[in-house]
Amino acid sequence: MTEQNKSGTPVDDDAGDASAAQAAAHKSALAWTHTARFLTTASQLNQLPQTELPEIAFVGRSNAGKSTAINTLTQQKRLAFASKTPGRTQHINLFELGPKDAPDALFADLPGYGYAAVARSAKQRWQEVMANYLQVRRSLSGVVLMVDSRLGLTELDRNLLEFVAPRVGTGEVRLLVLLTKADKLNRREAGAALAATQAVLGELSSDEADIGIALFSALSKAGVGDAACVLRDWVHPAAA
Ligand code: GDP
Repeated sequence: MTEQNKSGTPVDDDAGDASAAQAAAHKSALAWTHTARFLTTASQLNQLPQTELPEIAFVGRSNAGKSTAINTLTQQKRLAFASKTPGRTQHINLFELGPKDAPDALFADLPGYGYAAVARSAKQRWQEVMANYLQVRRSLSGVVLMVDSRLGLTELDRNLLEFVAPRVGTGEVRLLVLLTKADKLNRREAGAALAATQAVLGELSSDEADIGIALFSALSKAGVGDAACVLRDWVHPAAA
């Protein structure tokens, strides 16, 4: 689109249009993520409600910044706080999104893994619950894996990816890897973190797979609007 600037000279405003369109897309996607509200908590798979709603699971090592990312994406200070309260740290916490009378998606906050102080038996039990969830939860339509951008994908993250890899490969489950705390990296380090993650995720790629990687910072808000757009598009592919 061509407009005139103040001095009356025509200027090409394409770049301005693009960023205005992007800002509008971010705004509407973030308005959607903001609707998230606590639904229920479950310590076992068979306690989760059977649902037709598409479910997006948030996973990551403990301390990866998962709770902060969920709170930032939903613009709610304490939403993922439930997942941190004693007794609930090993639960799957479900949040419902969309209009109250017509919910359209669920977010599932899965327990953080790799926390050294957890007893071995509890770790094993949780590994099984997570593996089971990722392999068989019918309504699972996407996984958001939070990875500390300074650590990159660790062995535990790769183990987790293996559980869901078959469903990612067929395109049944989408995958978004968020490299968190990106504010701590300079430009060169950020590029290296993206490249290293890309190299690992390449193993999962196929014609059908939908895999994304993005830098994310709750502090600078980098990547927040884009991540919200990705999640909203998973649920509402046609939405602008
Ligand atoms: P969780 O265990 O994965 O839920 O991790 P938390 O959300 O509790 O975050 C772990 C630590 O990382 C906390 O001290 C957060 O303040 C910090 N953190 C989380 N996100 C960011 C971020 O975007 N930038 C920075 N600098 N620190 C962050």
